[in-house]
Amino acid sequence: MSAQSREVVRSLLRPEFRELTAYGAPQLDVPVRLNTNENSYELPDAVAQSVTAALAAEVKDLNRYPDREFTRLRGALSGYLATQAGVQLDVAQLWAANGSNEVIQHILQAFGGPGRRALGFVPSYSMHELISISTGTGWIRGRRDEQFDLQAADALAQIAEHDPDVVFLCSPNNPTGTSMSRDVVEAVLGATRGIVVVDEAYAEFAREGTPSALGLLPDNPRLIVSRTMSKAFAFAGARVGYLAADPEITEAMRLVRLPYHLSSLTQAAAIAALGHADLLLSTVDAIKGQRDRIVRTLADFGLLPVPSDSNFVMFGGLADAGATWQALLDHGILVRDIGIAHHLRVSAGTEAETTAFLDALRDHLRDNP
Ligand code: PMP
Repeated sequence: MSAQSREVVRSLLRPEFRELTAYGAPQLDVPVRLNTNENSYELPDAVAQSVTAALAAEVKDLNRYPDREFTRLRGALSGYLATQAGVQLDVAQLWAANGSNEVIQHILQAFGGPGRRALGFVPSYSMHELISISTGTGWIRGRRDEQFDLQAADALAQIAEHDPDVVFLCSPNNPTGTSMSRDVVEAVLGATRGIVVVDEAYAEFAREGTPSALGLLPDNPRLIVSRTMSKAFAFAGARVGYLAADPEITEAMRLVRLPYHLSSLTQAAAIAALGHADLLLSTVDAIKGQRDRIVRTLADFGLLPVPSDSNFVMFGGLADAGATWQALLDHGILVRDIGIAHHLRVSAGTEAETTAFLDALRDHLRDNP
């Protein structure tokens, strides 16, 4: 692009976008990719076969639009949450879209927008901010404490200060990996007049005793719990995220979605995968084992890993995080530079990937004390 055309296009861009850079986790073709918290395991054969058969059955009907209300998929998601989280939800309480990113976009299109504001407590998932901005919603950068935790009293003070229309909580939180206690979620619900979104993209990786906010749904029509098939389900490429909320919330989502937003191929693939939930989730325990191994081993290295409820670990204590990131990449290992000084984030991979990461990091630290 010439400097001149850049100038012209930038002058026409909405002003709030002019200083922004696009979401850009590097997609590099390296042997060990541990930077976007994907599930490192490919789909088991049985699941791949079911998905392939389900897609084949749809292909002849691609001349028709898909079921706009994706009713069978909602039923499958409701069945899954009954088993995984022990909550009984009516299909009218479920909504799905192309990844939970699109779910969040629908929420902000409906409940944010010009003249309204969303509050999130950073560091947290950066797309909460970016989607707020792209939907014209004012973004309030709330704070966490020095350990990146959020205490109820601190959250309430910030809500009282800003009176947001939408509050984002993220539990387990990306990039810290830590969960929020149910007390904080309840306190926030009590303190705000607006919508409270609990982003539970990593819920299936939580340690024993970490409650989901799904249990709070019956008494809280302003609560939205968003989840995804991208992580625990190893289904990131299919782009399926969903939310659970009051039926009035899902009704509001119908106002903002584009008609037929979930293709018949997406719906068929997701339903087929949900039919194998047990098998797909069988990798979750292995990933949690590698995650805990990373926490233990990094502590042995003298670093500061944060105990995690998700499929990744944030760790501090690095002299120069950028130099460590580059040294790992030189060994074919891609982790995430989250822009917090002295910290990096790594996804828990397979045992072999985790070993490659830990070995390369140990060598780097030995050579760069
Ligand atoms: N929420 C959180 C906290 C995430 O970390 C991610 C992905 N990195 C998402 C939502 C979006 O996931 P997807 O759109 O693939 O469902």
